[in-house]
Amino acid sequence: MKGVVFLGERKLEIRDFPEPNPGFSEAVIEMRASGLCGSDFRAFRAPRSEGGDPAQLRAVGHEPCGRVIEVGSGVQNLKVGDRVIIHHYLGCGRCRWCRVGYSQMCIDPGAKKLYYGRTNHGGHAERIAVHETACVPMPEGLSYEEGAACACGTGTAYDALKRLDLSGRDTIAIYGQGPVGLSATLFGVATGARVLVVEPVAYRRELAKSLGCDVAIDPREGDPVEAIKSLTHGEGADATLDCTGIPQPRINTVKSARIYGRACFVGEGGETSFDVSRDIMHKQLTLHGSWTMSTIGLGEVARYVAERKLPLKKLITHRFRLEQAAEAYKIFESGETGKVVITWA
Ligand SMILES: [Zn+2]
Ligand SMILES: [Zn+2]
Repeated sequence: MKGVVFLGERKLEIRDFPEPNPGFSEAVIEMRASGLCGSDFRAFRAPRSEGGDPAQLRAVGHEPCGRVIEVGSGVQNLKVGDRVIIHHYLGCGRCRWCRVGYSQMCIDPGAKKLYYGRTNHGGHAERIAVHETACVPMPEGLSYEEGAACACGTGTAYDALKRLDLSGRDTIAIYGQGPVGLSATLFGVATGARVLVVEPVAYRRELAKSLGCDVAIDPREGDPVEAIKSLTHGEGADATLDCTGIPQPRINTVKSARIYGRACFVGEGGETSFDVSRDIMHKQLTLHGSWTMSTIGLGEVARYVAERKLPLKKLITHRFRLEQAAEAYKIFESGETGKVVITWA
């Protein structure tokens, strides 16, 4: 079977791998859609030396979605033909976090932790073997590409808004309109909140408007914090969300929240410095960090999108075949996209 590996320095390769065989508790998933995520760029751009032995590379892609085509002898809750979204982590299965579906936060130091898309083959492959507990059943009415979006970016946005306890009474300011930020816009609008977005790329501002955001602010045209304050009677937004991971937008996320407001960080990145007294304590601010979601959260976001018939499809702007993976990453890196998926449909 074919799969995409990252060689580093923006080079990727399509390799032939042996066909997967299901282990005792594993299913073989025939991939139908696999999303590209902003966090892929870390490994995609890394120096070649950082990837380890190139012969040991596994297929990348941590937003896999597909159909069960074979099950191991110990599989109890899956059958051939089931449509599933893959939660791309696996932990010990016994600790308190694994038991509530947060296998990425497994606290058993002795457990062998798997990551589909790094230690094991991920979604940018034709067929992969996955532990049954990492397979989340798809609701009726959700397409495979929507399932792939939920697997990481869209699910991450959904959980962040839950953390912020967003309601229709709130004005929310969302920094960054990549796949996570756009998903947050989609859910914010569905909640009835007033949604202000900050995004430098015109293409993404237009996409956010088509999803129903109230105002799309270009941060290159002036201070976005001032823009948000002027739209909120000088107070700042009730809730703010950073989907960029970049220091300045992170600082702005804190600064554009009102007194007693709530701010949440979901964009991955390095260090950022805050004036804790002035910007956080004296504003009585509540800060949240939110990282992806549990298997239970993944099932929840998938049902939410399907039951409410949310226009998640609008967010998926580019589709490529596996063989076109290099082109897919090139256009995704340009910023002029919404969600980009590899599809077999
Ligand atoms: Zn991701
Ligand atoms: Zn565990």
